[in-house]
Amino acid sequence: MKILIVEDEPKTGDYLRQGLSEAGLNTDLARDGNDGLHLALAGDYDLIILDVMLPGLNGWQVLEALRRAGHGMPVLFLTARDQVDDRVKGLELGADDYLVKPFAFAELLARVRTLLRRGRAAPEATSLQLADLEIDFLRRRVSRAGQRIDLTAKEFALLELFARRPGEVLPRTLIAAQVWDMNFDSDTNVVEVAVRRLRAKVDDSFEPKLIRTVRGMGYVLEVP
Ligand code: CA
Repeated sequence: MKILIVEDEPKTGDYLRQGLSEAGLNTDLARDGNDGLHLALAGDYDLIILDVMLPGLNGWQVLEALRRAGHGMPVLFLTARDQVDDRVKGLELGADDYLVKPFAFAELLARVRTLLRRGRAAPEATSLQLADLEIDFLRRRVSRAGQRIDLTAKEFALLELFARRPGEVLPRTLIAAQVWDMNFDSDTNVVEVAVRRLRAKVDDSFEPKLIRTVRGMGYVLEVP
């Protein structure tokens, strides 16, 4: 895990660097926007902590250039200004999280860990095996115990959502939002019906059952 810090204020930069390395994370530190962008484009970072007000390119410009160059690593913004406009602008440009200065280091570390976890689970995996269930995300093929299973596009999307977050209980509302693009007060019966269909194909004739209902919460895909 390697983190790039882009921060012009020497005290804050050193403080971040020291704290993160004590937490076992590798860091590089850039003191202005141009250096930051240069390092970010060249290095293989898992996360960038990016100050907004920087000499040279500012934080927005660095982020914009990164995204334009196709770099999708998570970006945590540090800003002294907690104006709503700034937050909206950052989110539009593809920032993943915000921290308003001054912040407690524990808070920063918690957000950093969350973003690193999210980044690692993210789209890079092209296949997944869970017990005897095999999913090929690129070819969109699914098999269980070596038998090919045909899924509709929605069923595949649903399975993929589960499979990208194995062991995590996914609420119906989240599933509805991600797979059907419905907001959370919509009728989530559609989710139950779809999960039942998916189970009929993926679980009913096999052991162990991999899709579990967590009463009152949602569903989880895991090896029991
Ligand atoms: Ca600054």
